[in-house]
Amino acid sequence: MTQSRCDRCSATGPAHDFISAGSNGTWRVLCSRCFNSEMARFADVHNFQHPSFTPLHLRDADGNDHKFHFRSLLLGDQLSLEAFELAGHDEFAGYRFQVLGEAGSEPFALLGRLIRKMKRAVVTKHLRTDSGSLQVAETTLRGRIEGNGNENGNRPCVVIDGRRVEWNDFGAMLLAFEGWQFRLEMFDPSDEA
Ligand SMILES: [Zn+2]
Repeated sequence: MTQSRCDRCSATGPAHDFISAGSNGTWRVLCSRCFNSEMARFADVHNFQHPSFTPLHLRDADGNDHKFHFRSLLLGDQLSLEAFELAGHDEFAGYRFQVLGEAGSEPFALLGRLIRKMKRAVVTKHLRTDSGSLQVAETTLRGRIEGNGNENGNRPCVVIDGRRVEWNDFGAMLLAFEGWQFRLEMFDPSDEA
């Protein structure tokens, strides 16, 4: 796992808990705790306590275990709580969830909302494997759009059921519905798709 070092408090840890923050033309890498305490100062959020939660395991509909890490970031007058899987070095795979609350939100209430959202999502399967190839299980797909992380930067990949699906494979899956109509709607990461 890639490690990072905080330019403010020198703490080291896994890269996912660090944020590149720029001000006055200089960029610094900050741990989420330092990021939040600086943000609290700039946004005049008094007595902000940095929430920190240990990883949580959830089982999906197939009984597979998913380990979720949490990150909380103060974004001005909002507190964001994210849960995500670390799939090796690949940041473009795995489930990822976010909820937003007011800066003064009770962190455990936010965590409760996030966990309910996660549980609803991981027990719902949109894909099935048929003779070794991926198929759309029903007629609705929910997922996330990601960059595919290589030089073909203009081609996305999608993450469905917490699993990365390349654009070509996604197209092949859709061919099962040749001639059908579709509706594509985008949702903010903190909304319910
Ligand atoms: Zn720090």
